Amino acid sequence: PDAKQSVPEDSINVVIRCRPLSQKEIEAHDASVVTFPGGGQILLSGLDSIIHGDNGPKTKQFSFNVVFEPRAQQPDVFLYSGMTRLVQMAIEGFSTTCFCYGQTGSGKTHTLTGPPGMFNRKKPIFLSPFCSQFNRKKPPDPLHPDHGIIFRSFLYLFSLLQDRQDVHYVLKATFLEIYNEKVIDLLNNTRRSLPVRWSKKSRSFFVENLFTVDCEELDDLLAVLEEGMRNRSVGAHAMNDVSSRSHTMLTISITSEQLMDNGVYITKAGKINFVDLAGSEMTKKTLSEGKTLREANNINKSLMVLGYCISSLSDPKKRGGHIPYRDSKLTKLLADSLAGSGVTLMIATISPALSNISESLNTLRYAARAKRI
Ligand code: ADP
Ligand code: MG
Repeated sequence: PDAKQSVPEDSINVVIRCRPLSQKEIEAHDASVVTFPGGGQILLSGLDSIIHGDNGPKTKQFSFNVVFEPRAQQPDVFLYSGMTRLVQMAIEGFSTTCFCYGQTGSGKTHTLTGPPGMFNRKKPIFLSPFCSQFNRKKPPDPLHPDHGIIFRSFLYLFSLLQDRQDVHYVLKATFLEIYNEKVIDLLNNTRRSLPVRWSKKSRSFFVENLFTVDCEELDDLLAVLEEGMRNRSVGAHAMNDVSSRSHTMLTISITSEQLMDNGVYITKAGKINFVDLAGSEMTKKTLSEGKTLREANNINKSLMVLGYCISSLSDPKKRGGHIPYRDSKLTKLLADSLAGSGVTLMIATISPALSNISESLNTLRYAARAKRI
């Protein structure tokens, strides 16, 4: 991607989702400090509990075009977040990314894939590059109301492709995890670190030797999602805290070939990345755990660099200059969606609880900054 190229007005869309208070928070009499006065406003109150001094503000107001209150349901988030536009653009050959940003427990995974019980497969699915499911009898119920944005995007993608019988499509899927700046394949359970390289041909970064599955049917994509989620939880079990410290990225690449009656032949290559980021509290936590800057950087370098890239992109003075995509694995892989003609959807997730207020404030500030891109 050409960093000098001007970024389109709406190259990154930011939406906010606030989850309901959890049962545990209700039982602990944790107060809700997030309210919605209307008009896309989010009001954070109780700030005097974290910002001391008599003159400090007690409340802070933020404004976004799309805000999901706690009662908003999964289908609403899919329909109104702008995700449908991303799917349409990916079919048209654009690189697109949907990522969830927020503290651990704020609802990132819930928004992308649904509640924990959604994909609780114990046995592995044997995937092959050509045909995904060999040993899988029971696919997830497509009508389940808690399906996240990924499943809903799959359904929508297939409904759009079915309408275009004149075009030949090839879909491929990969699923990886970035932990401690190591790229690990979630479809090929060796947990070996894979190198990220630059491709001159496609002018973008790619992961070498990543297991890639050809997906002919909706069920193939679902098998990839299920198997990746299963491998992620296997890894999370072996290493404490891995799911809050790692980023996962599911990529669907869509190549289309069309031969028109007038003899014009067109191929397009687009993709959708679904990224479940490490908990946003990690950058600070890793810095304050008494680690050296270098160690801390490694633990969540990708999250920090993503922040730098987003704030550089959102600063009109820096936007046309150097954006540090090359400084982390995650930003290398997202560079083509963040820059140039790519499109990104950021879903910032927050908790309404007083006990999480400083993280919610940080997330809303980060989101407000990204919105200016
Ligand atoms: P994260 O991935 O950000 O760490 P999770 O998605 O795991 O957070 O959410 C933490 C818990 O809260 C999970 O049990 C999840 O199902 C629940 N949860 C999150 N968002 C919502 C929501 N909008 N509605 C209902 N439950 C939610
Ligand atoms: Mg999660």
